[in-house]
Amino acid sequence: MRLCDLISDYPMIKIDALPAFNDNYIWLLQEPTNRRCAVVDPGDAAPVLAWLDENPGWQLSDILITHHHSDHVGGVESLKAATGARVSGPANERIPARDVALNDGDQLEVLGLSFSVMAVPGHTIGHIAYVQPEQHWLFCGDTLFAAGCGRLFEGTPAQMYASLSRFAELPEQTHVYCTHEYTLSNLRFAVAVEPGNSRLQQRFEEVTQWRQEGCISLPSTIGLEKSTNPFLRCETPEVIASAVRHCDTALKDSVAVFAALRSWKDTF
Ligand SMILES: [Zn+2]
Repeated sequence: MRLCDLISDYPMIKIDALPAFNDNYIWLLQEPTNRRCAVVDPGDAAPVLAWLDENPGWQLSDILITHHHSDHVGGVESLKAATGARVSGPANERIPARDVALNDGDQLEVLGLSFSVMAVPGHTIGHIAYVQPEQHWLFCGDTLFAAGCGRLFEGTPAQMYASLSRFAELPEQTHVYCTHEYTLSNLRFAVAVEPGNSRLQQRFEEVTQWRQEGCISLPSTIGLEKSTNPFLRCETPEVIASAVRHCDTALKDSVAVFAALRSWKDTF
C-alpha cells in the first residue's frame, strides 16, 4: 500500500491536551478535513467551550467518558447542551446525558476511526478504556498513569492487576493518554521501589526537566511504561524484593506484589 492510500484511509487527527482543574487533562481530538472534534473525560466544560470559541467552524461531535468521577464527567451535560455532541460511556456506571452505553469488546466510530472498548475495573468497577489500534492510541482514564496507576476506590487488587496486564499486551508503541499530570510524583515512588533501574532514573531526570520547563509529560507509551512503571513490573526481582521489604511479609504472587505496592504508594 502506498503512503497516499494510507493517508486517504485514515483521517489525520491531531490530539491536544486541554488542562483542567489542578492536574487534569481533557484530550481533544481534531479532524481538520471536516472540522470535527471529540473530547475525552471533560470534567469541566469551560476549557472545551473556550477552545470552540477560539476555533469557529469546528463542531464537537463526540464526548468519550472512561468512568463516573466528577472530574471526568462534570462538563458533560453543559457541553452536550451547547454542541449536541454524542456522549459515550461505560454501561455499568451512572454517566450524565449518556447516549451510548459501552461494554467490553464494543466498537465505537469516532471522527471516522473505529475505537475498541476495554473493560478495565479497579479504580472504579465500571471503568472502560478506548483503544484505536491503527493509530496506536490508548485513552485509559484513571487506570494506568505515566509511571503509576489509579487508586483502588471500588475494585480489588486482582481486578486492577488484570486490567493493567491487558494494557501491557498492547503494542509497545501504543500512546498512553491518561488523565492526570501525576508523572513526576509517580516517578519519585517508582525510583524508591526500583533504584537499580537505569531507564527509570533517566526518565525521572527527563520528566523533572520537562516539568521545570512547564511542559506536559504525556502521552507516554506502553513500551516506556513496561520498562519504568512499577505497577507493570510486579514480576521483576527488584520490585518484588522492595515490596516484600516494605510490608515485611512474604508475597505469594504478582497480585500480592501489586497490592503491596498500591498500598505503599497510598501513603508514600
Ligand atoms: Zn477517577
